[in-house]
Amino acid sequence: MHHSGQDQFRQLLRENVPLAPLTTLGVGGPARFFADCATVEALAAGVSWARAEALPLFVLGGGSNVVVADSGFTGLVLRVMIGGIDVAADRQHAVVTAGAGEPWDGFVAYTIERDLAGLECLSGIPGRVGATPMQNVGAYGQETSETLASVEALDLQTAELVRFDNRECEFGYRASRFKGRDQGRYIITRVSYRLQPGGAPAVRYAELERTLADHGATQPTLAQVRDAVIAVRRRKAMVIDPTDADSRSVGSFFMNPTVTQEAFEGVRAIAGRFLREGETLPAFPTADQRVKLSAAWLIEHAGIRRGTVHGNVGTSTKHALAIINRGSGTAREVLELCRMIQTRVRETFGVELTPEPVFVGLT
Ligand SMILES: Cc1cc2nc3c(=O)[nH]c(=O)nc-3n(C[C@H](O)[C@H](O)[C@H](O)COP(=O)(O)OP(=O)(O)OC[C@H]3O[C@@H](n4cnc5c(N)ncnc54)[C@H](O)[C@@H]3O)c2cc1C
Repeated sequence: MHHSGQDQFRQLLRENVPLAPLTTLGVGGPARFFADCATVEALAAGVSWARAEALPLFVLGGGSNVVVADSGFTGLVLRVMIGGIDVAADRQHAVVTAGAGEPWDGFVAYTIERDLAGLECLSGIPGRVGATPMQNVGAYGQETSETLASVEALDLQTAELVRFDNRECEFGYRASRFKGRDQGRYIITRVSYRLQPGGAPAVRYAELERTLADHGATQPTLAQVRDAVIAVRRRKAMVIDPTDADSRSVGSFFMNPTVTQEAFEGVRAIAGRFLREGETLPAFPTADQRVKLSAAWLIEHAGIRRGTVHGNVGTSTKHALAIINRGSGTAREVLELCRMIQTRVRETFGVELTPEPVFVGLT
């Protein structure tokens, strides 16, 4: 069994595969070894091959939250291609399970076509289903963790399939155990969501509400909310659109920082100098008595304008938080711009910005 699995895996194995085209930012070099894996068995065989060859491993989904080093990755990249969606009833809910390789937005569309509420505000986000629990993907006031029922994953330590319920995923803001203390330990193979048949859509954002009103939707359906979310995202180049150069990004490059009350008072004092009549510093209390600030606001008020150019990369003309590849950008330029932004925000407000994407092959 073991040997035939290895033989099958060798047939999937490719060498020196350029990674830039497999990512939305489009920078970086090749993977020394690469395999598309459509089954758990193929993934497991890939893991044991990498171990036997003493090679580092990287798991790729849709490549929408990664920055690949210009020198590429010297190990094995396994791209998760496990497909399939099915629905089961669970008392008043529907449990929808998708393979980790399903495109996320197609999955969201599938749930909305079946009138299942819970993921509508997460429309238009690129990537695959398997990556969404990693950073507890969220947008417009909705997060993966609100409806996620369970995660099935391959444990690279034991080579067994394991299951985590919602609580066991240890979700936080753009965080989970998979991106945190267990980073690199699990390959997510399948994800289940508990959704509400015929449920009301979540409309928690003023901008979303306004767009719905503009469309004449006062009691919006799930499908109308999905359309409005995509329309709002498109205005900010936050949907992948080959005709919009501003969407060659990883989405938001920085997380919104959370600071202590004391640090917040310091930021507020400095911000006072920048605020125009009637303008306030965006700040949201967190559950643990801290304050979440808007990274976009801090960046713009630190003097980094939208559309800033740095060599072949820059910031989006539509969103202060997105670093974009303007054509033939490199990972080095992306990192330089990242550091420039971090330095300006640190020097202006004393706040440290943490990048959101995962860096591959960069040490
Ligand atoms: C235009 C744009 C808009 C975006 N908007 C949002 C947004 O609104 N909200 C938001 O939260 N994010 C957003 N993102 C970021 C990104 O789309 C999400 O983080 C998405 O979930 C990443 O999925 P992916 O399949 O592309 O993951 P990848 O980029 O391929 O991988 C990201 C990380 O997850 C790991 N990973 C991927 N699949 C698996 C798996 N099956 N098992 C284990 N590890 C895995 C990788 O190793 C890597 O560490 C946006 C990105 C872009 C380009």
